[in-house]
Amino acid sequence: VSYQVTVSPVRLGQMRGALCAFEDITEQELVGQFRRDFVANVSHELRTPLTTLASSIETLKGAARDDPPARERFLSIMEREAARMSRLVAELLSLSKVEAQERQRPTAPVDIAGLVDAAAASFRPAATEAGLRLEILGADGAPRIPGDADQLTQVLQNLIENAIKYGAAGDRVTIALHAPNDEPMLRIDVIDEGDGIEPMHLPRLTERFYRIDDHRSREKGGTGLGLAIVKHIVSRHRGRLDIVSAPGKGARFSVFLPKS
Ligand code: ADP
Repeated sequence: VSYQVTVSPVRLGQMRGALCAFEDITEQELVGQFRRDFVANVSHELRTPLTTLASSIETLKGAARDDPPARERFLSIMEREAARMSRLVAELLSLSKVEAQERQRPTAPVDIAGLVDAAAASFRPAATEAGLRLEILGADGAPRIPGDADQLTQVLQNLIENAIKYGAAGDRVTIALHAPNDEPMLRIDVIDEGDGIEPMHLPRLTERFYRIDDHRSREKGGTGLGLAIVKHIVSRHRGRLDIVSAPGKGARFSVFLPKS
């Protein structure tokens, strides 16, 4: 712990003395460090696609100018990199919005069973393309819960997308909603049978830009922000995210949300 001490001379009638103000600067320092790391990360993440875009433009103006197949190839690369940058910017905005709202708990009644069905249905084609079966286990009579439907949809989308991206080594992705009558929370599990996660990574997965395999995540279009967004949305809903996984055993991401 470090303190910043300000000493100012004071005079009170005939008395002279000094006033010391102690201020704990540790937290300020941490916030400053966090901000610097964040800016460095964002700059790095943006610079990589920008470099690729710049060199593709250079090639299109020069060597690939009169070579239609090469032109096509470079245009596709540019399209992919521009999409990556858009996604990064959209996710950064999402993250900063959720962070700013974290103290206000959302209260609109949300049909969580309907959201689970809709999110799962929208990923069916992607799952089929990855060679995976998507299984949805609904809960009969799941109550409406206080929440923000768009943000809860984003939680489901991020988790299902990850299960498909990183679970391709298995056969199946399961999305299950549990809403037991006698419990104050309901639970949504997103389970894959993929490569799983080493225990040492588990506590850090929800940090922004944390990726286990940087190359693999980037190849799959990942930004490293998905789980950070999930964590903040769940915490805004006064819920909890549990991750259970082991190498070779797939992964289970469980979101707990208060029913009232
Ligand atoms: P990304 O955009 O890279 O997918 P996320 O924040 O969503 O970022 O996830 C962070 C990292 O956690 C990923 O890069 C990946 O290494 C790991 N991860 C996330 N979901 C899974 C999963 N279902 N199975 C294995 N690893 C996962």
